[in-house]
Amino acid sequence: MRSSEANRIYFDRAADQLDLSENIRQLLLTPRREVQVQLPVELDSGAVASFIGYRVQHNNARGPMKGGLRYHPQVDLDEIRALASLMTWKTAVVNIPYGGAKGGIALDPNSLSTRELQRVTRRFVDNVHDLIGPDVDIPAPDMGTSSEVMAWIMNQYDKFHGFSPACVTGKPVEYHGLPGREEATGRGVGLLTVKLLSRLGRRIPGTRVALQGFGNVGTHTAKFLQETECRIIAVGDATANVYRKEGLDVLEMIRYVHGNGGTLTGYQGGDAISNQELLSCNCDVLVPAALGGVLTNENAGHIKAPIIIEAANAPTDPAADAFFDEIGVTVLPDILCNAGGVTASWFEWVQNRQHYQWGMNRVRQELDRILGEAFEQVWQLASSRKVSLRTAAFMLGVGRVRQATALGGIG
Ligand code: NAD
Repeated sequence: MRSSEANRIYFDRAADQLDLSENIRQLLLTPRREVQVQLPVELDSGAVASFIGYRVQHNNARGPMKGGLRYHPQVDLDEIRALASLMTWKTAVVNIPYGGAKGGIALDPNSLSTRELQRVTRRFVDNVHDLIGPDVDIPAPDMGTSSEVMAWIMNQYDKFHGFSPACVTGKPVEYHGLPGREEATGRGVGLLTVKLLSRLGRRIPGTRVALQGFGNVGTHTAKFLQETECRIIAVGDATANVYRKEGLDVLEMIRYVHGNGGTLTGYQGGDAISNQELLSCNCDVLVPAALGGVLTNENAGHIKAPIIIEAANAPTDPAADAFFDEIGVTVLPDILCNAGGVTASWFEWVQNRQHYQWGMNRVRQELDRILGEAFEQVWQLASSRKVSLRTAAFMLGVGRVRQATALGGIG
């Protein structure tokens, strides 16, 4: 199933609950603008390569559009379109003054040198700088991009528009970034996992966690959960998966990955397992924190975890989601679960505009407050309307965007 079709199903469940007309559904679903650009660059070898980049600006009813930039070989327009709309609902769920956008370039970042990646990134900004900007559309990191890439984006954007640190978020702390932005998505995932476990009446210490994806989100989620005495029993990335019943040493694994080109290849601190074995291992909490579409009709029946924490965007397809709902598996949906990243991005943007910087404590305090409030609102709505947490989160997000659209008026 295409990503946009999956999204439509989730959207319609909420729209039915909100009793939205077909016209309003179309208005809210249709992106404002979609851009596809060709990015020819010279490789270090002197050969010329050409990449395709996308930016989809979905909705700005609640503020400037906001969303990550993904570098991955499977990036295509349909996926970026679906992820852009998720950003619109996500910023509304946590009630920050943004709309939604997403971008991506179809490439494998591991197959390019740093200099080549920099050239592709700058070429992308050359193509879209008139369409993005602090009051229009603000990119951020996503899968395959980092704070370094964000620094190149700001630097290239500045060449056209002058000093504009608020044109992109997720920048290095030493280059107009925010202390705490890098950990924010994973910290938020960990925090909301603990809130959910408490709401479900489960004991936190000893909770067995399996985690797919050990990049920015995965590492910080694992670290936070281990600090709360959860037991991280399985961790995997694109290159390797490891299992240890007694619990893996997360800090050691993070050190290993940092010294090993960003991957778990060759890590010896646990038993090697397959990707599918990781997803279906005997655990209390399963955290997909890598790609979308990993929990499907085919493997849903093998999943043993009673709780799924969607740290990644769109990891569960609608058939698997319906199955989990039916058998009583609790799914904490992406648009709430991983909203810590965009929330901290908002803090960074606010401070860039004020030329002022908060300390780490204040960032964490504000982040925890905003995510905690959003969790309570989604939980209450799910309980009162007897719907899943996903439908409740979509109801909250879509409802707020609908309201802003009505208040602003069409004309
Ligand atoms: P990242 O590039 O830092 O890490 C991605 C991880 O996924 C890596 O460990 C990689 O090896 C692994 N991976 C890739 N393909 C895989 C496969 N086929 N099987 C198993 N593992 C695989 O990316 P990230 O920023 O941590 O993003 C991860 C997810 O979180 C994405 O879905 C992204 O959209 C979402 N997300 C990220 C942020 C953020 O602030 N970075 C915010 C919200 C949502």
